[in-house]
Amino acid sequence: MDITEAIVLLMRLKKQMWNIMPLTMEYEIKAVNKGIEALEKQIPKKPAIYKDTRDLFDLNGNVTGTYETDVIECPFCGEYLLDLAAYTEYQEILNYCNRCGQALEFSEVQENENEKKRTD
Ligand SMILES: [Zn+2]
Repeated sequence: MDITEAIVLLMRLKKQMWNIMPLTMEYEIKAVNKGIEALEKQIPKKPAIYKDTRDLFDLNGNVTGTYETDVIECPFCGEYLLDLAAYTEYQEILNYCNRCGQALEFSEVQENENEKKRTD
């Protein structure tokens, strides 16, 4: 049984529990939801890319301006993962989000970057 099949079966089970005894099974339905959520996190998802503005500092630590950079974040919880410029170094070891455990698929980032370059 693969992950997707297990998710479909749990969703079917949840529907049956809801149809039979929605009020008395409320706690059990929440447990099934947690199971579905945990399984869904095992399916690798492409990280989200967004623009972040950062401060520029002089040698004395004073803010002298800002710059924009592309940043990769978890598609599930929004946790900052790393700068896009550094992802080729870390894509082999960063397979999961450190905060929520979402499985990550970095090859999709590469494809997106290529698409971005084609449309630029
Ligand atoms: Zn996360």
